[in-house]
Amino acid sequence: MILSAPDNVTTRKKATAVCSKCKSVLDSRAHRSWFVKTFLFWLPIRNFKCYKCNRTQYVLINR
Ligand SMILES: [Zn+2]
Repeated sequence: MILSAPDNVTTRKKATAVCSKCKSVLDSRAHRSWFVKTFLFWLPIRNFKCYKCNRTQYVLINR
């Protein structure tokens, strides 16, 4: 008997955002700055980086 692992266990919903400039999908791996960690830690905010135009922007994640 072969057990197949369900797909929805390991695939977590990734927060995605689009660059306001070039409309490409942003990478969410950018680190949050100390300012965000200190003052905006209560906000569902994420620092996204666009590797196309090399700029970071903060995006509010709606849940
Ligand atoms: Zn961009």
